[in-house]
Amino acid sequence: MSESMQAVTELRGVGAETAELLHEMGIYTIRDLIEYVPYRYEDYAMRDLAEVKHDERVTVEGKIHSLPVLQYYGKKKSRLTFRVLVDRYLINVVCFNRPYYKDKVLIDETVTVTGKWDQSRQTIAATEVKFGPVVRQQELEPVYSVRGKMSVKLMRRLIGAALQSGMDVEDVLPEGLRQRYRLLPRLQALRALHMPVSQEEIKQARRRVVYEEFFLFQLKMQALRKVQREHSAGVSKTYDEAALQEFTASLPFPLTGAQQRVVNEILQDMSSPYRMNRLLQGDVGSGKTIVAAISLYAAKLSGCQGALMVPTEILAEQHFQSLQDIFARVDVTVELLTSSVKGARRRGILERLEAGEVDVLVGTHALIQDEVNFHRLGLVITDEQHRFGVSQRRVLREKGESPDVLFMTATPIPRTLAITAFGEMDVSVIDEMPAGRKKIETYWAKHDMFERVLSFAEKELQKGRQAYVICPLIEESEKLDVQNAIDLHSMLTFHFREKCRIGLMHGRLSAQEKDAVMREFSENQVQVLVSTTVVEVGVNVPNATVMIIYDAERFGLSQLHQLRGRVGRGSEQSYCILIADPKSEVGKERMKIMTETNDGFELSEKDLELRGPGDFFGSKQSGLPEFKLADMVHDYRALETARTDAAVLVASQAFWESPQYEALRSYLEQSGVFQSEKLD
Ligand code: ADP
Ligand code: MG
Repeated sequence: MSESMQAVTELRGVGAETAELLHEMGIYTIRDLIEYVPYRYEDYAMRDLAEVKHDERVTVEGKIHSLPVLQYYGKKKSRLTFRVLVDRYLINVVCFNRPYYKDKVLIDETVTVTGKWDQSRQTIAATEVKFGPVVRQQELEPVYSVRGKMSVKLMRRLIGAALQSGMDVEDVLPEGLRQRYRLLPRLQALRALHMPVSQEEIKQARRRVVYEEFFLFQLKMQALRKVQREHSAGVSKTYDEAALQEFTASLPFPLTGAQQRVVNEILQDMSSPYRMNRLLQGDVGSGKTIVAAISLYAAKLSGCQGALMVPTEILAEQHFQSLQDIFARVDVTVELLTSSVKGARRRGILERLEAGEVDVLVGTHALIQDEVNFHRLGLVITDEQHRFGVSQRRVLREKGESPDVLFMTATPIPRTLAITAFGEMDVSVIDEMPAGRKKIETYWAKHDMFERVLSFAEKELQKGRQAYVICPLIEESEKLDVQNAIDLHSMLTFHFREKCRIGLMHGRLSAQEKDAVMREFSENQVQVLVSTTVVEVGVNVPNATVMIIYDAERFGLSQLHQLRGRVGRGSEQSYCILIADPKSEVGKERMKIMTETNDGFELSEKDLELRGPGDFFGSKQSGLPEFKLADMVHDYRALETARTDAAVLVASQAFWESPQYEALRSYLEQSGVFQSEKLD
C-alpha cells in the first residue's frame, strides 16, 4: 500500500470525530484529502486603496509614518493608532487591545496591515499586522466546499497537514504527454491548487488537473470501445465495390462531401472484422436517408439483410417509400413491418424474411418482436436514436450475429458532449447541407403581433401551402399542453372559418389517431396543423412552408431548431415565426440566435453555452460524467486533445504491454472496463 492510501486518521490531530466529518464528505485517505481541490479562492492581493469600498476587507503594505499613540480605557482595553504611508495615501491604522505593538511601531519600517477599511476616516481597523521587511504571505486562500460540521478553516489545516506528511501521490499521466504540454507533475499541481502563490500558478495547476481528468475519462472510453469491438467481433463484409459505386452514381444528385466522407467511414466499419457501433449526426435535411440507403445496399451486396427502425408508423411509411424509390433501379427487396401490417400479409413478410428473400425491413418497434426472424441480419440502423431505449436497441441487435449498428440522429449534439456522452462510440457527422437549399427565413414577433402573423400565414395558404402552429410547452403538465392546443385550435378554426381546415394533434391522441391526423395533413386535406411538440420528429410534409411557434421562449434552442426543420423541405421558400415575449436576457438571446442562423450545430453549441452541460440533455439520459475541475464547455480544447491522445495510446501495442503503462492499465482494471462486454 502506497503511503498516500493511508487513512486520514494517520494524520496528527485527526481523531475519530474529524475522521467522521471527512467520511461524510467521501474523504477516507490522505490521498483523498490531497485530491480534494478548492472551488474558488479568497484573494488578499494588495489593491489600490482608491478601488476599495467602505467596510471592505483589505490588505495594504506601506511605511510607518508616525509614532504610535496608545490609549487605555476600561480595565484591560486599549487602542493603538499610528499612520502609514501607502503609495500616495497617508492612512490611519487602529489596533485594539494589542498594547505590545507599541515598541514595534518604528518610523520608516515596512508594515503589512489587513483589516476593514473605513473610507470616511481613512482608517483600517487592523485584524492582522506584520512588521518588518515583507515576507510574502499567502494572498490567495483556497475555499473548499464543505458539508455538515466541517469548516473551510479546518479543511485548510487538514489538507496542509496532508501535504506536509511527505507522502507520495502517484502520477499516472505518461511522462511523454506531461512534457509535450508542459504540465506540472501531479503532486506539484495539487500543492499549487491548495497553496497558490499567484493566479498564474493556479492556472497552470488547473491546466494539469483538467487535462488529467479528461485524459483518464477518454482513456476509459477508448479502452471500452476497443474491448467492446473485440468481444463482439462482427462479420467482415465484402461487397462488390463497382456495383456499389454504380448505384451511388445513379442517384439523382451527387453526394455532398460530408455524405461521401460519412459513407466511407461506415463502409470501412462494415468491412472491418469489428462490429460497427457508430453514431451518425446530421442536421435535419442534411441527407441521412441516402447514407442509410447506401449502407443497406452494401449489406445486401455482401449477402446480408438490413433493418431500419424508426419510432413512429408514419416515419416508417415515409422511409419505406423513400427506400423503395431509391432502390427502384437495383435489385433490393424492401418491406414494411408495423403493427398495422396484419394477417396474411404479415405472415408472408415474416416467412420471406426468414427465408432471406427480403433484403431490407423497415419498421417500428414491431421489428423487435419475437416472431420476427431474420435469415442473416448484418446491419441495423435506427433513426432518431434518442427515442429508443437501450434495451430495445439491444434486442434488435441480438437478432443477428453481431450485426453492425448505426444510430442516426438529427439532434445536433455539440461535439464536446457527443464525445463525452457517447465516448465509446464512433461518431460521424454530416456537417454540410446539399447545395441550393433555401434558408428558412426566421422572424421573431411579439404576442400582440399575432393577428399580423396570421394574415401572413393566410397569404401562404392562398398560394396552396400549409402551415404548422406549435403551441406552448408546459413541462409540468401534459394536460395543460393539450388544453392549450385545443384552445388554439378552436381560436384558429374561428379565425379562418371556411378558408381552410385546421387539424389538431397532441399527446393524448392514440397512435392511430395521430397517424390519421398526420396523414390528412400530408395529403393536404388539412391545411393548418395545430400541434404540441409531438410533431417534432422526422415528419416530412414538403408542401408546408410556415412554422409558427407559439410561446417560443419556453423551448430550448435545439428544440426550436428541430421544430423549424419541419418546414423548408420542398423547393419553396419557407418561414418560421417565433411568437415570444421573453423576459430574461437569455430568452431574448435565444430568439435572436434563431433568427440569425439555420445551422443546427452552431445552435447546439450556443444552447450548450446558455444552458450548461447538465441541462443540455434531459437529466435522465445525460450519461455525462462529473468532473472535479474540468468544464466541458470552457475546456473543450483540452477535451479534444485528451481524446486524441487517449485514442492514440490505446491503439498502441506498447500501452498494453510496456511496464511504463502498468499504472494506467490497473486504473482501467479498477474502473471495470474489462468487465464491460455486457455494457451497451
Ligand atoms: P435527413 O437527414 O433530415 O433525414 P433526408 O435524408 O430526408 O434528410 O434528405 C432531405 C432531402 O435532401 C431529401 O429530399 C433528399 O432527397 C435530399 N438530398 C439528400 N442528399 C442530397 C444531395 N447530396 N444533393 C441534393 N439533395 C439531397
Ligand atoms: Mg430523416
